[in-house]
Amino acid sequence: MLGGFSRTNLPVQRYLALLVLPWGAMLLLAVAVLWPYLAWFQDTVESLQDEQLPGVLEAQRTRTNLNVLRKQLAIIYLAEAPAERRRARLQAQALLAGMGHDPSPAASAAVAMEPRVRQLYDACMAADRALSRLHRGEMELLLAVSRLEQLSGRQLAGAVIFSHTGKDGMRHGRKAFEEMRRLLAPVAALCDSAADDESAGACEAYGQRWGALSVAWEARLAANERAYVLWQELENELLRLINVISSRELQRSLEEAESLSDATDYIVWSVFVFTLGLLAFLLVLVLLLRRDLLRPLVGIAGNLSRLRDGQQPEPIAPVRIAELQEVADIVPDLGGYLGSLKEHSSRLEKEKAAYSRMSLMDSLTAIPNRRAFDLRLADLADRRRPVGLIMLDVDMFKVYNDTLGHQEGDACLRRVAQTMRDCLRGGEKEIFRYGGEEFGVVLEDVPREAALQVAERLRRAVERLALPHPGNPQTGLVTISLGVAAVTELTEDNLACLLDAADHALYAAKKNGRNRVADAAEGVCSGGEDEPAPAGAGTEKSACLAHDDRL
Ligand code: GH3
Ligand code: MG
Ligand code: MG
Repeated sequence: MLGGFSRTNLPVQRYLALLVLPWGAMLLLAVAVLWPYLAWFQDTVESLQDEQLPGVLEAQRTRTNLNVLRKQLAIIYLAEAPAERRRARLQAQALLAGMGHDPSPAASAAVAMEPRVRQLYDACMAADRALSRLHRGEMELLLAVSRLEQLSGRQLAGAVIFSHTGKDGMRHGRKAFEEMRRLLAPVAALCDSAADDESAGACEAYGQRWGALSVAWEARLAANERAYVLWQELENELLRLINVISSRELQRSLEEAESLSDATDYIVWSVFVFTLGLLAFLLVLVLLLRRDLLRPLVGIAGNLSRLRDGQQPEPIAPVRIAELQEVADIVPDLGGYLGSLKEHSSRLEKEKAAYSRMSLMDSLTAIPNRRAFDLRLADLADRRRPVGLIMLDVDMFKVYNDTLGHQEGDACLRRVAQTMRDCLRGGEKEIFRYGGEEFGVVLEDVPREAALQVAERLRRAVERLALPHPGNPQTGLVTISLGVAAVTELTEDNLACLLDAADHALYAAKKNGRNRVADAAEGVCSGGEDEPAPAGAGTEKSACLAHDDRL
């Protein structure tokens, strides 16, 4: 089965199926092996419950009855009062009658003892009767001995008679009788030597009484002995029956316990072996998953990290799960793809920057366009900076175009724009093509006076270009007119005002004869006075400034 795992490129479903199948097979095997023993165990427990337990209870009841019977028989034999003996006999007979329903052999054997129980009772009753006669004989013998003691004037120990015919005396049997005879030997000796008739008569009476007592004694002993033998027989038989019951019960219990213990042992061993197998399979499963799933995953993750860090992915050993192999194979390609993506992206970034730059540049004059102009002013307004603004326009440019043509017009605009750019300290950061032949110059942190100077400088620089303008009746050259306005703090609110003011000033310059600088009314937008010119204003080291200075 594991052979399947040595093949490479298994689809994941088949791989998992191969991994799970052994578990299923092992479970089935375990169930197949354990099932019969579990069934056996269950049968044994059930038979204990349904058959053995009632049997045990039955046997216990029989044994209890036999013990009660033993007790009643002992009472019959040992009781001194006949009434007690009779009660015991009745109880024994009732018990035996009840045991007639008990099907066990022991009970049947006990029931069969009934006649002998009766015999025992009869023997005991005979013994009782013999005892009565014995007691009467004792009394009469005592009277005879007393008479002799009277006649002889001697003490003849007649009282000893009772100590030997009593309960203790009977227990010692004939021995006690002999002892009594020995103790009464002086009476016999007295009678042997009896001289008078009165003594002879008393001795004769004593002899008769002694004979009667001997007979009663013998009868009592015989009856007692017979009762004792019967009682012992019954007692021994009952004990034997009880022992048989007990040993049969014990035997049964041992057999059941043994079979239960066998079944338990087998189940314990089976579970132990099954657990070992389970652990072994688990180990194999973990090793296979580690080899075929975890290691490839770690390798793939490592390669992805390498790619992220810009390193080359490392080769991965062949993977057994086809889908994982596909992922592992894709990772190096992904590296190439990511590389080209990065390249593409940086090219796009560059292009974007170029387009962004282009979108802010005027293509004709190569200086920033109207959008850049608006953005620059918005930025300064955001930062609330002092700003000087110059709006300028090429004079009579329509005529220029009309006379020299648009190509010449474009060239002229290029020359004028570049000249002005070179004339500014901030270069293309400060000059913008506003539209057509109009330009805007944005001077950060430059007050009105300085802005006026810069405007004048630009005007002269364009004039010095000495571009011929056939349509300009004044100078015959290309010239510009400029309007200047300034605020000490540019804001969103005064931005439009500043543009308007500079535009108006430009209009004024045009109106006043062109080729000149005009400034807006003082503090027209900020409502404040003009700022003093900063120390560095008008001291640029550019060529136009140097030329200007020379003039
Ligand atoms: P003014 O002194 O009052 O400014 O007179 P003007 O002729 O310059 O004024 P106007 O605004 O009427 O004319 C502007 C002309 O500038 C119109 C158009 O032919 C020309 N012009 C605008 N943009 C371009 C451009 O990009 N190239 C060329 N060649 N000419 C342009
Ligand atoms: Mg114009
Ligand atoms: Mg013009």
